[in-house]
Amino acid sequence: MESALSARDRVGVQDFLLLENYNSEAAFIENLRRRYREGLIYTYIGSVLVSVNPYRELEIYSKQNMERHRGVNFYEISPHIFALADNSYRALRTERRNQCILISGESGAGKTEASKKILQYYTHICPTRNNTHTIRERLLQSNPVLEAFGNAKTLRNDNSSRFGKYMDIQFDYKGAPIGGHILNYLLEKSRVAHQNHGERNFHIFYQLLEGGEEPLLKRLGLEKTNPQHYHYLVKGNCPRVSSINDKNGWKVVRNALTIIGFNEEEIQELMEIVASVLHLGNIQFGEDEEGETHITTGPQLQYLSQLLGVDGSVLQEALTHKKIVAKGEEVISQYLSVCSVLLSDFNTLDLCLYSHAFCLLVDEQTDEVYYSSKCSSIIGLLDIYGFEVFQHNSFEQFCINYCNEKLQQLFIELTLKSEQEEYEAEGIVWERVKYFNNKIICDLVEEKHKGIIAVLDEECLRRGDASDITFLEKLEDTLGGHAHFVTHKMANGKIRKAIGREEFRLVHYAGEVNYNVSGFLDKNNDLLYRHLKEVLCQSGNHIVSQCFHADELMDQRRPETAATQFKLSLAKLMEILMSKEPSYVRCIKPNDAKQPGRFDEVLVRHQVKYLGLMENLRVRRAGFAYRRNYEVFLERYKSLCPDTWPNWRGKLPEGVATLVKHLNYKPEEYKLGRCKIFIRFPRTLFVTEDALEA
Ligand code: ATP
Ligand code: MG
Repeated sequence: MESALSARDRVGVQDFLLLENYNSEAAFIENLRRRYREGLIYTYIGSVLVSVNPYRELEIYSKQNMERHRGVNFYEISPHIFALADNSYRALRTERRNQCILISGESGAGKTEASKKILQYYTHICPTRNNTHTIRERLLQSNPVLEAFGNAKTLRNDNSSRFGKYMDIQFDYKGAPIGGHILNYLLEKSRVAHQNHGERNFHIFYQLLEGGEEPLLKRLGLEKTNPQHYHYLVKGNCPRVSSINDKNGWKVVRNALTIIGFNEEEIQELMEIVASVLHLGNIQFGEDEEGETHITTGPQLQYLSQLLGVDGSVLQEALTHKKIVAKGEEVISQYLSVCSVLLSDFNTLDLCLYSHAFCLLVDEQTDEVYYSSKCSSIIGLLDIYGFEVFQHNSFEQFCINYCNEKLQQLFIELTLKSEQEEYEAEGIVWERVKYFNNKIICDLVEEKHKGIIAVLDEECLRRGDASDITFLEKLEDTLGGHAHFVTHKMANGKIRKAIGREEFRLVHYAGEVNYNVSGFLDKNNDLLYRHLKEVLCQSGNHIVSQCFHADELMDQRRPETAATQFKLSLAKLMEILMSKEPSYVRCIKPNDAKQPGRFDEVLVRHQVKYLGLMENLRVRRAGFAYRRNYEVFLERYKSLCPDTWPNWRGKLPEGVATLVKHLNYKPEEYKLGRCKIFIRFPRTLFVTEDALEA
């Protein structure tokens, strides 16, 4: 089958395992570069797929090409995302093991595009049952909706996912997709109210304004369709982007919402929330002669009241007052100053509205396609934010980078560590490959009582003088001396980049990041005042009243903080992933200019390093690509040797030894363990497979 590869396909090596100088990072990068120049964006490291963003449409994703990959062995044709997808699907069908595909890489590296290609592949090649047409459509259409609400133009990516996504694709016993289940992680909701220069708010705002039908916009009070009219859309000073067609985007989203089961009324209610957020952004406050705060922008208040289905005066009161429980049960309503209104719950209301609507949207889609009773097996797809380092790093980057530490830990557990442990268990002599185990950093963040999250939660609970700075001081007291935690007090001459007085530095597996503590307590508390919740519970908009449920108000317990919620959801995610057989797609961004054909070596080298690709290659090289139980191996290939055919009557290991000797395996190609044969290179096995067919 090697002949299926053209001369162009053979540029460089298509599997890094075959690289002669496999210890050299320069050789690794040169191989990537040579292939990239030829438009060959995919290369394997064993079964890991490395993908370099081409920043242009390639003609390799057609239906014919999907057909070419159906049921074909990994190494028989040139590396492709479809081959990886097919491999997982076949393992699911033949070995009945649940699979997961973990896609990682930095912002703009191509994770979301890769996950879409995988989904398209499955919906094309898998068999259909009577009703699976609609299921397929729903699975596919979940993407544009989630992207409209959860993606935005950033400096790094015009369509950047601002949330993490895990999707289960469920299959029945015949391998037909019958459902899906989506989990989302940590939507960057602060973007609703604030965007950096050159960035935009979530796509849906612009799509609605640009593409929304006139009567709809009129009903929503959005006759002014210029984004510049809305405070929440002007901060980044970037209303239009050449690569984005908002008008068309609206059509796609509207259609997708219908396909995934939203009726007209529900679509309108969803848009009422989007419009409410825009109106909230335009609300202004002033003080009357008695110094009391009130809303000075009447029309906006009126629209809000209409859209949220809440009485205007109730809403005004809720936004400008704070309820305090004094002397037991007595509730006092106190005016907030203009300043504190702007600083407090007013700002959280819009973020809360939006993020609740987003979560509901995710859940709805899940409900629509969920079919667990008939589900026999699952392929999970994880498309989650990569490691982030900015000039100014805050709570969000802290959470995102913590998530990446956890994924690295999973990678170590599932590949590096388990691989080495298996060799030991089988008594295979080999040279251990050193790798850095980042468990120490995961513990630093999440350990009970003394991890960073525990200290943060403690400060959030403490009233009185608790502040971001006292949080930092507590961290210093608790973690001072930890090898991966530094503040300016501890910094000595060895540390290159200065650490500010309001910062702490974490030495991540991927590099050092300084986090500014300003805002950590508020973001972690993430509380919407109770009386605002009470108001929203009564909303005439069903989506809003569903998001803010009265039951929640009855629950007197303090809700989990944002960081703890995130930690718990990550722990659950790890459990989900651990129970499956993983495949990896490692995405690389070739340049910062989002341009085709440009390969910035420094940028690529950095990613190769933090994605751990060289370590990965070394472990794979030192190790063995395939392993089979003696029994299985002998059963499959015994017909190739007269001594083992039709049956081998002696001991299994001796039978296998006789067989491989007959097959002319060279000593460096394989090793015999206690119960298994280990084969170093996939091609050895392929030659044997071909012999079976001959
Ligand atoms: P983020 O973390 O910001 O969400 P990402 O890794 O998900 O980033 P994508 O949105 O998948 O990045 O890719 C960014 C852009 O790069 C896409 O919008 C597309 O223009 C281009 N791109 C990525 N992969 C491919 C591909 N295989 N073929 C063509 N273009 C691609
Ligand atoms: Mg993405």
